[in-house]
Parts: sequence; C-alpha cells; structure tokens
Amino acid sequence: MNTDAHAHSSAPGLFDPFGRRFEYLRLSVTDACNFKCVYCLPGGFRPVPGAAAPLDASEIEHLLTGFAALGVFKVRLTGGEPTVRKDIVDLVARAAAVPGIRRVALSTNGYRLDTLAGPLADAGLSQLNVSVDHLDPVGFAEVTGKALLHRVIGGIDTALARGLTVKVNVVRLGGLNDDAVDAFFDWVRDTPVAVRFIELMETADSRAFFARHHRPMDALRRRLAADGWVTRPRAAGDGPAEEFTHPNAAGRIGLIAPYAPGFCEGCNRLRVTARGALRLCLFGRGEHDLRPLLDGTHAPEVLAREVLRAVSLKPAGHRLQAADAGDTVHLAAVGG
Ligand code: SAM
Ligand code: SF4
Repeated sequence: MNTDAHAHSSAPGLFDPFGRRFEYLRLSVTDACNFKCVYCLPGGFRPVPGAAAPLDASEIEHLLTGFAALGVFKVRLTGGEPTVRKDIVDLVARAAAVPGIRRVALSTNGYRLDTLAGPLADAGLSQLNVSVDHLDPVGFAEVTGKALLHRVIGGIDTALARGLTVKVNVVRLGGLNDDAVDAFFDWVRDTPVAVRFIELMETADSRAFFARHHRPMDALRRRLAADGWVTRPRAAGDGPAEEFTHPNAAGRIGLIAPYAPGFCEGCNRLRVTARGALRLCLFGRGEHDLRPLLDGTHAPEVLAREVLRAVSLKPAGHRLQAADAGDTVHLAAVGG
C-alpha cells in the first residue's frame, strides 16, 4: 500500500472550489541567487532596497504547522537559491520535525551540494531537485553564467551516495541545449536520477527570450515513444511531471509541459514567497500576506482559516495560452 495515500486519507484536506486538493507547499526561503540563468535572472540577483528580510526559521515553523493542520504533508524549500542561506540545514531539520510534514524536498542549483548533501540527508531531507541545463561545461556556463558543471555533478554523486532521491531539472531551451538532449538520455542509462525536461515558461520579465527559445515538448514525447519508454504511474504528492521508465535505464525521464491542455486540472501545490505571501498560481496575480500570522502569537488554526479563505479564490488555471503570464517577474521571485 502507498503509505502517503493511506496517511492523508484521514487528513482534513485543503480543497479549492474546483475540487482540487492541496497537499504540497513550495516555500521560497530566499529571493537571492548566485547564478545568472539566462531564462531566470540574466542580469544576476539584485536586492530590492528596503525589502523585508526573508522569513526566519521560527516563522517558517509556524507557517508549516498551519499548513500541516490542513493536511499538507509535503514541502519543498526553494528560491532563489535556498542554499545561499547559511541556516538551510537547520531549516530542513525543522521542517522535517513539524508533525504532519512527512516529505521535505529541496530545489537547488547544486553549487554547495558537494559539502551539503550529507548534512541535508542527516537533517531529514527526502528528495533533491537539482537544476542542470547542460551536460557540457561550456554549454552549462553559457546558460547559468557559472563554470561549475563538474562541481554540481560531483554534488549529485555525493547525494546519491548518501541515499537521497535525486531529480534533475532541465529547462528545454531552443538554440541553447538542443545538442545536450542525447547526453541526458545517455546519462540516465547508468545513473539513477530522474531527468525532467521542463518547457520554458514565459514570465513578465522574459517575453523576448521566451519568443526566441521556447520549444514545445512534442519532439521529446515522440522520441520517448519511439525508443520504448513507458509512462510511470503517478504517486500521491507527485508534481506535474509525466515520468517514463525504460527496461535498460537506471534512471527515468520526465516531461513538464505547462502549456499542455489540462495541465492545471491536476494542480496540487500552493506557493509561499520568501516574505510569507501566499501565491495561488505561479502565473496568477496578487498575493495574500500570511506573515502577520507567523509571529508565534496566533494559533495554527488562525493561519489555517486564512489559507482556506485565500484558496477559495484560486483560479481554475493559468492564462499562458492567452499570453497572460500574470505578474510573476521571474521564477526566482516566487519559488519556481
Ligand atoms: N535555484 C534553484 C534551481 O535553480 O533549481 C531553485 C529555484 S528555480 C526558480 C526552480 C526551477 O525553476 C529550476 O528548475 C529552474 O530551472 C526553473 N525555472 C526558472 N525559470 C524558469 C522558466 N522561465 N521556465 C521554466 N522553468 C524555469
Ligand atoms: Fe538561480 Fe535557480 Fe533562477 Fe538559475 S533558475 S538563476 S539557479 S533561481
């Protein structure tokens, strides 16, 4: 039996008016990042003068306690780059210790994984998502602005050796990583990672880049079918990736295609920004400030009520096909 599915069947449940259940929270722990990915922060991270500090560890604990009271059992810490925070291992340990939170994942660019993978595993991390947009050092540096491919791959090897589940995110970028697709297919033959190709998403800051580099996922889908990859059934708390397995491969391949029809119907996640604002959709507008309820003077039920109220306003889906990417400037700002 799938223990996750069994355990959450008795939880109170956080539903929106369309019957979608939210059991997965993506929490940004910082806007800051040390990479300059061409599709995300091409000019590098620039702090906003006078902006409030990110949520501290105690506020994060209060936040997660409130969400857990609503049946949320999985949290992903993301950013920006979450490992630029000095207390990232402590944040993972605290998240893993919140009653009801059974899975703690981390999205990272991997630049500190060589030293952090062990401590993160010890702190209770269940899953790592590492961004690797190219497997050639020059191509990697061209996309990320950092000549750190070998260090990131070394960090992934350390994480695997420590028993962590590793997923690798590859944003499919026409003209920038077309020639890397074969290398990723070769890599998963012997390496037990799930490589997920993500369709480039348009944001308010990236219209021109999107027009040049966006490619649909059809070619990859055709290649998977032709090469004998088969769809893997989804498990509770899984994200939006369609994953595929192959009898001759140690790893898996996934596709994340947000422009595909019906993508929003399976939405199971909410997002909270680094300053404690709830965002109902990555490509929506506006946010709901939860920070005033995280100072330890409010019961988790108060926060839970506020979240329920906000979620009752969640829209049915994004409007990307109508060229409306909402008010998200880039994914680093909201925890992609
Ligand atoms: N810094 C970490 C990282 O790169 O994994 C975590 C934050 S990053 C915003 C989370 C994920 O969003 C990464 O896999 C990144 O490649 C992806 N991402 C960022 N901007 C994107 C865009 N415009 N379209 C598709 N994926 C994007
Ligand atoms: Fe930083 Fe991640 Fe954005 Fe790259 S995708 S700039 S690593 S936040």
